Amino acid sequence: MNYQRIMVFGAHQDDELVMAAGMARMAANNTQVVVVIMTNGCEGFPTPELKDTVVALRAKEAEDARRVLGVARYVNLGAPDMGLVNSKEMLQKVMRIIREVRPEAIFTHGERERHRDHIATRDLSLEAAWHAGEPVCADLGAPWRTPHLYYYKNTAIEGPAVLYDVTEFAHKHAEALATQVSQHTLFGRTRESYLEEAVRIKAHPPRTVLRFIIHPWTNLNRFPPLD
Ligand SMILES: [Zn+2]
Repeated sequence: MNYQRIMVFGAHQDDELVMAAGMARMAANNTQVVVVIMTNGCEGFPTPELKDTVVALRAKEAEDARRVLGVARYVNLGAPDMGLVNSKEMLQKVMRIIREVRPEAIFTHGERERHRDHIATRDLSLEAAWHAGEPVCADLGAPWRTPHLYYYKNTAIEGPAVLYDVTEFAHKHAEALATQVSQHTLFGRTRESYLEEAVRIKAHPPRTVLRFIIHPWTNLNRFPPLD
């Protein structure tokens, strides 16, 4: 995981937090972590009164989580929640951001997703990772082939994986989830309970290991990078 730049794709604000401790460890290691969220999260309101403000609220929560984890940059591509479509327009938006950031590794949703936006995010990010490396659509930036592709969320158990020890940063997961106030009803938790959990974990961190499944398009002959 000794990368200079990585990109983490999530369908909604908070999906990427499955690997919060991993992002925190990489960021502490001077890796530039860029999070790309596909949708605006407009359907994530647990009570009707929040309907009109949930998009702004989730944007603020995403910014709070970004600061907690040391993520360098957070990008929201603004597709409607529950309405993300693997369209040419979205594909080109993703290609453009990949070519701009030039990540050495991409982390995306796995093959066992059920939510339509999660499935579309996986497909869009993988397709765009390939297209971005082809000599096409020159107006979207210079071609960039991302060498390493991983699934970080809802993956099958089989397949080669990188096990990443994040014990020292395990508390960052709870700290990041504490910022996602609009989603606490969904999680069945409160901000206070997450913050207490973070303090507990920090005092006595349990051994915590993240498992990143290596996507088959990753060329293992060039793994890990030589520089
Ligand atoms: Zn999601």
